Amino acid sequence: MRLQDKVAIVTGSSQGIGEAIARRYGREGARVAVVASRSMDKANTVVKAIRGEGGVAEAFVADCSKVADIERLVADVIKKFGTVDIVVNNAGIMHTASVEDTTEAMWDEQLDLNLKGAFFLVKSAYPEFRRKGKGKVINISSIWGIGAGPNCPAYCAAKGGMVNLTRALAVEIGRHNINVNSIAPGNIATPLNAHLRGPDMADYIQQMANMTPTGRDFLQPEELTGTAVYLASDDSDAVHGVTIAVDAGWSAW
Ligand code: NAD
Repeated sequence: MRLQDKVAIVTGSSQGIGEAIARRYGREGARVAVVASRSMDKANTVVKAIRGEGGVAEAFVADCSKVADIERLVADVIKKFGTVDIVVNNAGIMHTASVEDTTEAMWDEQLDLNLKGAFFLVKSAYPEFRRKGKGKVINISSIWGIGAGPNCPAYCAAKGGMVNLTRALAVEIGRHNINVNSIAPGNIATPLNAHLRGPDMADYIQQMANMTPTGRDFLQPEELTGTAVYLASDDSDAVHGVTIAVDAGWSAW
């Protein structure tokens, strides 16, 4: 097991990519803080699954767009598990809207969660990382953070910001044995994009497959988890400020 006894906070882990990472971390021996935005029940369902696979996990609720909630989350996790070793900034939202249709509220919601929340989770865990002399941060960005797409300007700005936030944090706090890196997922089949994968979406699905040299339309969330384990493990101790695309080759064109 590659994360034996490490304490990991995975935001947005009540479903989708976050759930897959939380469950894989559990199988790798980590003690996992499963964080939902509102529903303790949803978090507890994932906790139950992790325990069923022999892992250790606890449920937490936090609105990760709010600094006060983030600070309370980190304090609660340290109270429960005694420390924190790994934070995964996974919670995220995407509104599909053209330039004309993007409202101030949509902009703020995406930037507050996808970018501001990520920074403040790192800031909140930082004193504990410094005390231990080690820490791991994994930011879940997007292919829309290293390239861009239409009809999601705020999302692209937030995810691109996350890529450079990753570098900025790496150059400032890397010398304290804190690794800050990110993953840029391609299309991953999760509840986020369920509406784009329905039976009437065949043309769109084919278009997505055509965007990858491998012809893959949507990857499964589990396919990201090996990279998330690597970036959380000692194997990546010399890796700082990088963004690893797990995208079936989308960004390689
Ligand atoms: P999802 O919608 O299935 O899950 C998102 C999670 O974030 C949920 O658990 C939700 O409860 C949580 N969340 C939403 N608002 C929150 C808030 N205010 N506070 C705390 N948690 C909140 O999405 P997903 O596809 O699993 O996406 C996970 C991450 O991966 C996101 O950051 C997303 O932008 C990114 N991503 C997804 C894809 C994809 O194709 N699915 C591609 C690239 C990047």
